[in-house]
Amino acid sequence: MTLMFNGIGVSKGFAIGEAHVLHRNQVDVTARKLTKKQIPAECRRLRRAIKIAKADLLTARDNIPKDAPSDISAFIETHILMLDDGLLSDTPIDIIKAEHCNAEAALQQQREAMAKVFGSMEDEYLATRIDDVNHVIDAVLRALDTGEEASTTDSWKGQIVIADDLTPADTVLMQNQGVAGFVTETGGQLSHTAILARSLGIPAIVGVHNIRQYVKAGEELTLDGKRGMLLAEPTTEMLSEVRKQQKSFKQQKRDLNKLVDEPAVTQDGVKLRLSANIEIEDDLKAVRRVNADGVGLYRTEFLYLNREQLPTEQEHFKNYTKVLRSLKGSMLTIRTADLGADKDFAHTHIFPSGPLAHNPAMGLRGIRLCLNEPSLFITQLRAILRASARGPLQILLPMLTNVAEVKQTLSLIDSVKEALTEEGIEFEQNIPIGGMVETPAAAIAADQFAQVLDFLSIGTNDLIQYTLAIDRIDDQVNYLYDPLHPAVLQLIKHTIDAGQKANIPVTLCGDMASDTRFVRVLLGLGLSEFSMPPNSLLAVKHSLINARRVRVRRFSTALMKTSDSEEQNSLLERINRG
Ligand code: PEP
Ligand code: MG
Repeated sequence: MTLMFNGIGVSKGFAIGEAHVLHRNQVDVTARKLTKKQIPAECRRLRRAIKIAKADLLTARDNIPKDAPSDISAFIETHILMLDDGLLSDTPIDIIKAEHCNAEAALQQQREAMAKVFGSMEDEYLATRIDDVNHVIDAVLRALDTGEEASTTDSWKGQIVIADDLTPADTVLMQNQGVAGFVTETGGQLSHTAILARSLGIPAIVGVHNIRQYVKAGEELTLDGKRGMLLAEPTTEMLSEVRKQQKSFKQQKRDLNKLVDEPAVTQDGVKLRLSANIEIEDDLKAVRRVNADGVGLYRTEFLYLNREQLPTEQEHFKNYTKVLRSLKGSMLTIRTADLGADKDFAHTHIFPSGPLAHNPAMGLRGIRLCLNEPSLFITQLRAILRASARGPLQILLPMLTNVAEVKQTLSLIDSVKEALTEEGIEFEQNIPIGGMVETPAAAIAADQFAQVLDFLSIGTNDLIQYTLAIDRIDDQVNYLYDPLHPAVLQLIKHTIDAGQKANIPVTLCGDMASDTRFVRVLLGLGLSEFSMPPNSLLAVKHSLINARRVRVRRFSTALMKTSDSEEQNSLLERINRG
């Protein structure tokens, strides 16, 4: 009988293969009392297991593909360092000696002690590092159990691995051994395993609770990493359907790759600008791979997260110059820190502001926070201006609601320029300054913003949140998050028109620009500049260069006027045809 399981699809692609079920978290940790004479041998046994676990990690590190993101080796390096740390190597030995217990019990005791320490940390990121401790301790327990290198004894070729969770090392080794896909019981879109699966291109689903109770080793499985669907013992018809989808997915990928050097122009000659959104330096590899027109949005708040101290001017500067070097002369749009709300960094204790706002999305975030903390803002502005001497860049201001915020920022930038001139530091005099249009206020008053800015960038993620009054990260109201709501489309259109009237560029850098269901709607509203995560760029390019603006315009106009979901679907289907 076929069984269907649903989880969170975290890495697109299809896999067909036998189930390889890992029950590794069930290593026996029964405590045993030892005699005094047995203790030296037990200590040697633990040291040997740590050595084996380390050898396993070193093999994984040496097998990381050259073009893999540096995050991958960072995860593995962290685990190697943990194994070398006295807390995991010396303390359990001390426990064995003091309590005359076996190595498993000593490790378990140390795991509990460390869980208490990590669990009491207020920093959410550090608190979740207990996962790393668990991964490392489990690896040592497995080595104690089998006396062998755990990962290398498994063969995963062509199989779908089912596990509670996977370590970064497991994931890399699996890819090297040609795993077809994997499913885990825990994890979410942003868990380490999910991030790695995406960068390594392994189809994957996470968060399928208790899946190991239902799937048996050797059973035939199919996995759809986009829809998050797993089938156990599929029928012949199901199997051939998945094979067809798998083939067409692979073909689509190959076809899209052929578009890398194609000019970005619609069928009726509208020139498009397709640029990339980046968050960390590693994203630059993908920017180069898809040949993006520079970076339309660099979310610099990631420089502030998960750390104890605020980044220094020199750190900002080094980071920006590195990104500029990688872009080799194409434009870098640096958005000034959009901290607060969903990019909450209050938990890192690096920011001296008052208590957390009751409603942070409406509170001191983005430009408001920067203007309220001029020293934080000036540090970043100085670094951006200094970097401007190294390559083309422009500044983007987040969360604007008042023109006064722009004016205040412009005068701050002028004073930073004066200071740099006095210090004899080089910078570009005419850096374009643009603003995010992501509040209804900014969209409605876009004409006025267009008078004081050099370009506008529509942030639909927030624009939808604030227009429809729904928290973008609240699952309970997610069903109301509607990019096609006529109010949203009208605000987008109004902003595009305002930019055109003032003769300044208008880009859209929210998620809507990366969604192939909506990009033709935006084209029809008059948009020609799109900025998106690099991995979506070729699919968006494919949709847009096969469209004609004159044809799609009337569907976009009709969409602006309807709230009827059936009519919306029919218009969407027609706009995306051909
Ligand atoms: C947006 O709001 O659409 C946007 C691009 O900014 P962020 O998602 O970083 O808030
Ligand atoms: Mg935003």
